[in-house]
Amino acid sequence: MEFDTIAAISTPSGEGAISIVRLSGDQAVAIAEKVSTQSLDKVPSHTIHYGHIIDPKSDKMLDEVMISVMREPRTFTREDVVEINCHGGIVVTNQVLQLLLRQGARLAEPGEFTKRAFLNGRVDLSQAEAVMDVIRAKTDKAMQMALTQLDGNLSHLIRSLRQEILEALAQVEVNIDYPEYDDVEELTTQLLLEKAELVKGQIHQLLRTAKQGKILREGLSTAIIGRPNVGKSSLLNHLLQEDKAIVTDIAGTTRDVIEEYVNVRGVPLKLIDTAGIRETEDVVEKIGVERSRKALAEADLILLVLNQNEALTEEDRRLLVATADLKRLILLNKVDLAANLKMEELTDYVKPGELLSISVLESAGIDELESQIAALFFDGGTGEKDATYVSNNRHIALLEQAELALGEVVTGIEAGMPVDLVQIDMTRCWDLLGEVIGDSVQDELITQLFSQFCLGK
Ligand code: GDP
Ligand code: ZN
Repeated sequence: MEFDTIAAISTPSGEGAISIVRLSGDQAVAIAEKVSTQSLDKVPSHTIHYGHIIDPKSDKMLDEVMISVMREPRTFTREDVVEINCHGGIVVTNQVLQLLLRQGARLAEPGEFTKRAFLNGRVDLSQAEAVMDVIRAKTDKAMQMALTQLDGNLSHLIRSLRQEILEALAQVEVNIDYPEYDDVEELTTQLLLEKAELVKGQIHQLLRTAKQGKILREGLSTAIIGRPNVGKSSLLNHLLQEDKAIVTDIAGTTRDVIEEYVNVRGVPLKLIDTAGIRETEDVVEKIGVERSRKALAEADLILLVLNQNEALTEEDRRLLVATADLKRLILLNKVDLAANLKMEELTDYVKPGELLSISVLESAGIDELESQIAALFFDGGTGEKDATYVSNNRHIALLEQAELALGEVVTGIEAGMPVDLVQIDMTRCWDLLGEVIGDSVQDELITQLFSQFCLGK
């Protein structure tokens, strides 16, 4: 395929000392050469060169840079790629980009680099999506999961399942071509049933990872609630310390949505309403009862903080009742002080395993709290290191439909439906699985998917 040469800043804006401007396309080297003091034309592929970026019009020096030259096809996009590592801050990086655009590069659309990798056959769709996940990963585990997918684990599995279906469909063709043989019909039905059940089982297995996968990918939305002065802010700050805080602006969505994540044993906690906790002492009061109900209902996990130094209050009871049916941990804070909250007061409100004593002030019980949070989402274990997870909503929806289609196959055969009718559902399943890896997706979907990527990826 022939494409023009695109350019974009491929590092998050405003972060880090070095920012990278990336070029891809057959003019990448030539365009970079025009603005560089280094001659790049003859340099070997996959080498890095020190130099300066100069505006050829004014001869003005913009930045001191390192330039990587990578020639096709061993590049991410399978095109010539040049990466300019700028040191001069975001303003300068922008100027370098503008300069490249004036030399004939076109500003890349969001996700266009990855789209090219896909269109040039370097990665399949599920891998392309994994690139985005790597970029957005909030913890090592989430990163590991995305890398595994990028590595093609999910693709391999999907391909092998499609192969199984294909074998069954081939048998159906035999059946149609040689209807005169008596046992062909029975053989076909038997094989269809076997394959349908096999593939269905594997898809089911895969879908079981979906919840954990989604949590790893998107974070576990967590609300810290409690009446004023029980220690919510202290707990929040404690969790945010120890280089665990990851403040991200979610690329591709609204620029000013700032969300805070905490890495708890590999589980990214997305703390909701932290602003509420920080700015006023009462979240419920600040955001209104209705909205806070909604926030609570949307949370995957509630950390309800009580002060065990004081007797249970009316407000504590109200919160205990409001969260009774949600996934929660009840934290009895300030155990370094005298115990004035009697356990008997709680028995009516608390289920076994929900209670945990802590002292944020003395860092007591926090380890236990973290283990419990991790255990809630890895069933006690810590998640398999290179298990294949599905976490992407699009994949999940497709796999669910595929599982349904296979269910139709099974019930169809059991009800004695003719093979050519059963074949329709089997073929549908083949198509649906193809969509996961991008084998049968329409252009429109491709454009839409890649536009969700961040700029420069
Ligand atoms: P919030 O209103 O729920 O956010 O509570 P804060 O985090 O602002 O804490 C209220 C007060 O309790 C502060 O003076 C904290 O230092 C104190 N505090 C928080 N956790 C503990 C604890 O574990 N032990 C003791 N003794 N004091 C604590
Ligand atoms: Zn506070």
